[in-house]
Amino acid sequence: MLVSMKGILADADSNNYAVMACNCCNMENVEAVVAAASSKRSAVIINISPRQFHLHADLDAMIPMIVSLASAAPVPIALNLDHGKEYDDIATALKKGFTSIMFDGSALTYEANLAITKQISTMAHNQGCACEGELGHVGQASAGDGEKVDYFTDVDMAVQFVKETKVDALAVAIGTAHGKYPAGFVPKLDFVRLKELKSALQMPLVLHGGSGSGEENIRRAVECGINKINVCTDVFAIGRDSVAHALGENPSVDWMNLMSGAQKDMQDYIESYMDLIGSSGRYQYTLADKQQFD
Ligand SMILES: [Zn+2]
Repeated sequence: MLVSMKGILADADSNNYAVMACNCCNMENVEAVVAAASSKRSAVIINISPRQFHLHADLDAMIPMIVSLASAAPVPIALNLDHGKEYDDIATALKKGFTSIMFDGSALTYEANLAITKQISTMAHNQGCACEGELGHVGQASAGDGEKVDYFTDVDMAVQFVKETKVDALAVAIGTAHGKYPAGFVPKLDFVRLKELKSALQMPLVLHGGSGSGEENIRRAVECGINKINVCTDVFAIGRDSVAHALGENPSVDWMNLMSGAQKDMQDYIESYMDLIGSSGRYQYTLADKQQFD
């Protein structure tokens, strides 16, 4: 069922596990995510960024499909605007049925980030949606941003930020970065800072730039208090590699088989990731029990 991200993350926070937030830009992505969540009995978050919906993932096609598939799934599924920055994109997302908004003001000054996040958080909450903010700056792997310690989230500022903005989840910068790291590079995460943030904030924390961070880093991040892990690059790469492999084997492979093969490979990857971050097996009810979420 389609729900707000708030309840999903509250359960993850109280039971010390994390939920995947997978970016989806087409039907195969969405079906892979929903099928994985249903088969693993795991909650999941479908992420769509403004860039993705402006360039390809038409919301008028995507949202009815997501609502329909999520409604028939025996697990909670949230639809989150990933990295909303412009007011128009956030208003569009709220109007069209997203159940959660992530506002990314991390490139702004602290004061501007706080002021705008507070407004967006109120807007989202007024519509029964959850809101995620970001403090510190999870930049781009290609710019080496994960290693810039002055981008990391400050604990005292985070406490003040959450108190004033009333966000339901906070994305923290502890050494990951978005996109693809250079070959062979494994980011070094600041777990001491993460533990301090968790104990000071006592709320769901979010790791952006989860792709390519390595299983050990991900496992430890969950142990230290991360409850939502954004994975875009890794899932997209699985789909791309599946297509490349199938075409390499047989350049005249049927289009439908090519797509369904990519979907299956993405589903397998997402299922193993759910096992890794502890979200598998958390929701054992059937759709008939759905009223507990209504
Ligand atoms: Zn991100």
